[in-house]
Amino acid sequence: MDDEKYDRLISSVTPMESADGVESYRNTVAMACPACDEPFDDAVVCTEEYNSLELSLELDLCVTTHDDDVVLFTHKP
Ligand SMILES: [Zn+2]
Repeated sequence: MDDEKYDRLISSVTPMESADGVESYRNTVAMACPACDEPFDDAVVCTEEYNSLELSLELDLCVTTHDDDVVLFTHKP
């Protein structure tokens, strides 16, 4: 995803937590996922070279990248 789309994404979603190179944002504005066009629940930006995610729910994930960061979009099935 390019800088313009990324900036629009980050300015639209609500920051939740940031820890261990993983930044989470909640989609409170029903923004469409850039990968599948369905509104996503959370966006997760992984800023380290390696990151581990512990999921407490079974989720469908869409993925893109911005620079070297992986950006995940979660959808509850
Ligand atoms: Zn999606």
